[in-house]
Amino acid sequence: MAAKRDGKDDMTDQPTTLITGGTVVTLDDAGTMMPDGYVLIRGDGIDAVGPTAVAPDRAGRIIDARGCVVMPGLINAHHHLYSTLARGFSPPGEPAANFQQILERLWWKVDRALTAEDVYLSAAIALAEAVRFGCTTVIDHHASPSCCDGSLDVIERAFRDIGLSGCLCYEVSDRNADGEGIEENVRFLRRTGEGSPMMRALFGLHASMTLSDETLKRCGELGRELGAGFHVHVAEAECDVDATRERFGARLMDRFRDAGMTGPRSLFAHGIHLEPDELDILAETDSMLVTNPESNMNNGLAVSPVLEALDRGITVGLGTDGMAPRMIAQARALYLIHRAVRRDPRVAFVEAADLLLKGNRDIARRVFGDQRGVLAPGAPADVAVFPYDPFTPLDGSTWLGHLLFGLEQVQARWTLCRGTVVVEEGRVTGLDESALRAGAVDHARGVWNRIRAM
Ligand SMILES: [Zn+2]
Repeated sequence: MAAKRDGKDDMTDQPTTLITGGTVVTLDDAGTMMPDGYVLIRGDGIDAVGPTAVAPDRAGRIIDARGCVVMPGLINAHHHLYSTLARGFSPPGEPAANFQQILERLWWKVDRALTAEDVYLSAAIALAEAVRFGCTTVIDHHASPSCCDGSLDVIERAFRDIGLSGCLCYEVSDRNADGEGIEENVRFLRRTGEGSPMMRALFGLHASMTLSDETLKRCGELGRELGAGFHVHVAEAECDVDATRERFGARLMDRFRDAGMTGPRSLFAHGIHLEPDELDILAETDSMLVTNPESNMNNGLAVSPVLEALDRGITVGLGTDGMAPRMIAQARALYLIHRAVRRDPRVAFVEAADLLLKGNRDIARRVFGDQRGVLAPGAPADVAVFPYDPFTPLDGSTWLGHLLFGLEQVQARWTLCRGTVVVEEGRVTGLDESALRAGAVDHARGVWNRIRAM
C-alpha cells in the first residue's frame, strides 16, 4: 500500500521514508545488490526493498539517492568516546616508549582530567563524526574517574541528541581506587534493561593487569546476577600478559574464564598476545573478539591474530578504539597491515571486509537482540547513503574493491538511524555541530592544562 503525502500510513499511522534511485547493497545472505533500487522505511523499521521500477509512488518523505550507494549503517564494535579531546595533545615529558607508558602518561591522565561536561562534549563530537561516516551503532568503553558516577547517563544523552544506537559500559579497574566503576556499571545495567531498544549496556572492565582477583570475582558475580555480557581489553600489549603472570600466576583468558566472564555476549578487545589455547577458550565459550588495527599501529603494537581467530570460528569484529570515526578505514588498515607483516599480497582482504560487514553485524545482533546490519523487511531502519559514482563496474564481484578503495574516502550524504534522518545532505541534524566544536576548544584547553598540572 502506498503511503499518503502526509507521511502517515493509512493503517498503521507510521511515517514512511522512501530512499530511491541508488545502488542498493542489501548485505543479505544472498548478497543481493540492485543498481537502481529503493528502500521503504515505515516507522523505525525497513518495510520493503526492491528495484526502483516497482517502488511505491508515494511516501511521507522521499530521498533521491541517485548517484549514491545505499547500504546498512556501519557498526563500531569498540570505541572510547572519552578520548576525543586529546586530539593534537602531547603529554609533557619524554615521549612514551611503550604501551604501559602510553597509558600512564596519556590516557590515564586524560580520563582523570575529564569533567562531566567534557564527557558530554567528547561523546557528542565523536558521535557526530561517526554518523557523518555512516555509522549507526557504537559500542563504547568509558572511563572518567573524576566524574564516574552518572557518567554513562551523560554519554547516553549524547547518543540521544545525535540519534544513533549505543552500548555503554564503564571500565572497572583498581588503578585509582579498588573496584572503581563497579557501581556505575551495575546502576546503568539495571536501568538500561528496561529502556530504549537503541541503548544497551555491558559490564565493562579495563584489563587483567589493573584488576585484582577480588575485583574480578566481584564483577563476575554481579555481572552474572544481572545477566550481563562483559567488555574488556585483553592482551593488547605484553605488559598485560607479564603483569598478570607476575601478580596472579595466571594467564589472561584463564582469569576471565574462571571469573565467569566468557560467553556469547562478552566482547574481548585486541587479543594480540593471546596464546593459541587462549584463543581456543574464546572459541569454546563462543566469546567475541574485536580488533582495532589503526589504534594498534598507532601504539606500535603487534598484529592481532585475527585470521587464527577466524579459523577457530570465533566471531570477530572491528573497532576504532577511539582513534577515528571511519569504520571502512579500519577494514582497509586491517588487510594492509596483514599483507605488510606477512609479506603476502594474497591475504586478509575478504576477511577484513567480513569483519566490518558480518563480524560487527553479528556482534551488534548479540548485544541488541535484533536483525540490524542488513537492508531487508523487518530489519531496523539503520541506513547509510554515500555519494558515489563508480568509474569501473560495480556489482557483486567488485563490491568489496569499491568499498575499501572508494567508499572508504567519502562521508555519508544521509544517515538514518531507526528511520530517523540523523545526517541530512552531509550535516548532522540533532545539534549544531560547528557550535559544539567551537565550544569544545576551550574545554580541550582545560583538560590539557589539568593534565599538565598532574
Ligand atoms: Zn580500547
